[in-house]
Amino acid sequence: MALQIDLDLCTGCGACVAVCPFCALTQRPSDGKVEVNEACTACGACIEVCPVGALSLPEPTSPAAAGQSETHRGLWVFAEQRGGQLQDVTFELLGKGGELARELGVEVGAVLLGHQVDACVGPLFEHGADVVYVVDHPALAAYTAEPYAEAMSALIKKHRPEIVLAGATSIGRSFIARVAIEATAGLTADCTELAVDPENRCLIQTRPAFGGNILAAILCPNHRPQMATVRPKVFPQPAPVEGRTGRRVDEQVELKDPVVRVLETVDAMQHEVNVAGAEFIVAGGRGVGGPEQFKLLAELAEALGGAAVGASRAAVDAGWISSFHQVGQTGKTVRPKVYIACGISGQIQHLVGMNSSDTIIAINKDPDAPIFEVADIGIVGDLFVVVPELVKALRKAQ
Ligand SMILES: Cc1cc2nc3c(=O)[nH]c(=O)nc-3n(C[C@H](O)[C@H](O)[C@H](O)COP(=O)(O)OP(=O)(O)OC[C@H]3O[C@@H](n4cnc5c(N)ncnc54)[C@H](O)[C@@H]3O)c2cc1C
Repeated sequence: MALQIDLDLCTGCGACVAVCPFCALTQRPSDGKVEVNEACTACGACIEVCPVGALSLPEPTSPAAAGQSETHRGLWVFAEQRGGQLQDVTFELLGKGGELARELGVEVGAVLLGHQVDACVGPLFEHGADVVYVVDHPALAAYTAEPYAEAMSALIKKHRPEIVLAGATSIGRSFIARVAIEATAGLTADCTELAVDPENRCLIQTRPAFGGNILAAILCPNHRPQMATVRPKVFPQPAPVEGRTGRRVDEQVELKDPVVRVLETVDAMQHEVNVAGAEFIVAGGRGVGGPEQFKLLAELAEALGGAAVGASRAAVDAGWISSFHQVGQTGKTVRPKVYIACGISGQIQHLVGMNSSDTIIAINKDPDAPIFEVADIGIVGDLFVVVPELVKALRKAQ
């Protein structure tokens, strides 16, 4: 986008030259009128100070003007599978994607990349995909970013979807940014809400910004596709419709020789508690006071029949519990049936990771703690009194 200068209006006052942070403006020696060089980033700082309105930027090209709103159609979900096992986030995105697609009047496509993954196709239809694009290739058997990005980019180029969604998982995060660059699209990571404006067909991508202190709505009005990632458990999983089918499209994609060869796959999470998938979570924060005291929360988790133990970042940063247990903006997003927050104040960065829980129970000795604003049941009290009482009552009831 190039800065426009109306030389008839320019008086050569030099106000714009003084404020340009990139030294992109100079004055002609002959008459002092201003010229712009290639350092201009179109930041607009000069426009604000020009007293005679001689500087302007062209109106942004809308997708309609660029013809993209006509040529790009459909909402796609990257169907993440590991070892032939579809990941829950895929179903969650198909559920939300279906709602958005209905508002836009388009189909939901699922993109399945892998090798010998036919068994995944049926569940994708049953969870809401209208079309499943399958790329079956030996180079896609074990995940590596390059061939996955290559295959996805080739399909986007060919079919031109207007929206592409992927899970903000280790796989989704590592390859979808390459795809966005290839598609010259923007990418909004870790969205906590998605909506569409049917008028201009914009995807309204909401995510925490400025350290989680505000929720920003991000739009990508000028390019298609619009791309976003969403963490697991942000959206609910739709119930499958047994027997629902759709259109299967098998695609052949030429893939370059991979630079990375997978020798062995190790599941680093296998010995760790699955906080993200737990139905009951007992979480502790700074109020717990130390690693030994976390045993009290483990007792409550056990009395609940095997709940997972979660933690705030304060507890993790203090070294009381491993980061696998962290819930929140930089931890896991959880959606359990019951979330019991013990000694957690309820800062926004923690809340964004757990406020979709079905029932939130908060135990905090400060009646003004923000956690009580999201809690369904609030217990004002010392957790070292309340938690043992709960354990006793639960054990008695068993
Ligand atoms: C970019 C960024 C990302 C972040 N990501 C995360 C994240 O992913 N997850 C996260 O949790 N935080 C995150 N944070 C940190 C977040 O801002 C808070 O600092 C953190 O959540 C506070 O943890 P806390 O509630 O355990 O501690 P505090 O805020 O210190 O709260 C402790 C609470 O315990 C209560 N308490 C004390 N003793 C007792 C007792 N005996 N009984 C009952 N209650 C008691 C107190 O009243 C208090 O409310 C992030 C911050 C930033 C800037």
